[in-house]
Amino acid sequence: MKTKLLIASRNQKKKKELQQILSGLNFELLSLDDLPPLPEVEEDGTTFAENAIKKAVTVARQTGLLALADDSGLVVDALQGAPGVFSARYSDPEANDEKNNRKLLLAMQDIPDADRSARFVCVIALAEPDGQVQTVQGICEGRIDKVLKGSAGFGYDPLFIPDGFEESFAQLDPSIKNTISHRGQALEFIKPVLEKINMGGENC
Ligand code: IMP
Repeated sequence: MKTKLLIASRNQKKKKELQQILSGLNFELLSLDDLPPLPEVEEDGTTFAENAIKKAVTVARQTGLLALADDSGLVVDALQGAPGVFSARYSDPEANDEKNNRKLLLAMQDIPDADRSARFVCVIALAEPDGQVQTVQGICEGRIDKVLKGSAGFGYDPLFIPDGFEESFAQLDPSIKNTISHRGQALEFIKPVLEKINMGGENC
């Protein structure tokens, strides 16, 4: 019997990315949409790690399942680390990708090419129902472009050019993004942890 692994995310595109990357592992992947509604977990931490841990631990306790949560965002050097943990709601509390990208373009309009460095950061927390939690972090370095490019992916993908590429994340094939992305890297780090849990046969 496969171990159940609950992906604690409601973002459909992110969930799809996580599922693609984790599909090779011997887990039955569940999402929050497969369960009766749970109360929203407020992402009020000051770091990606705080938010990821809070989400994973809360959901694992509520459901009795092994739960994986990630918190990620864009860190721009010229903006002193903004949008950071506020990446999802950078433009305003009702933000969407288009408004966030517009605000980022505006904030970066006078920044010269040499100073447009940025990185995506992802912290993944894996929590067991008893509250034990482990975290890993992935980082993808790059720069912020001056125009939106491409239509794949989500969030700031059309503005982010990863190091070693001329295309934005939104122009790259999703399989390439998954390999080099902050989330792809963090998932690679969490895979051995998951494999170990699976071998122990916990949580079936
Ligand atoms: P979350 O808290 O992990 O859902 O991510 C917060 C926000 O960071 C998202 O709403 C996006 O705006 C941004 N973000 C995180 N990962 C990515 C990515 O892979 N591409 C583009 N934007 C991302």
